[in-house]
Amino acid sequence: MAVGKYYEAQRQYLREIKPNVVFSTRKIATRTKLAEEQDWICSICGNPMAHDDVSLDHIRPLCQGGDAFDERNLQVVHPICNANKGGSWDGKRGYP
Ligand SMILES: [Zn+2]
Repeated sequence: MAVGKYYEAQRQYLREIKPNVVFSTRKIATRTKLAEEQDWICSICGNPMAHDDVSLDHIRPLCQGGDAFDERNLQVVHPICNANKGGSWDGKRGYP
């Protein structure tokens, strides 16, 4: 998988906010790649995201049967938008 331009910044940011969690290269690369594809626009509220204010979201939540790893079920959003969304789902987008 191609590592995005902001990969290193994302890795450092995650290390700072969650020092006890080990994030896989794949997960950080996915966040960065999706953010770049979305032009750093939050999929939920449509506003720009700072490079240190990005959260990986499952479009169809795992609790509703969404796929955990397939990129068709992933988007990047603000952490606060992700928290507000919780386990809700519009029933349309996502995978499967
Ligand atoms: Zn947002």
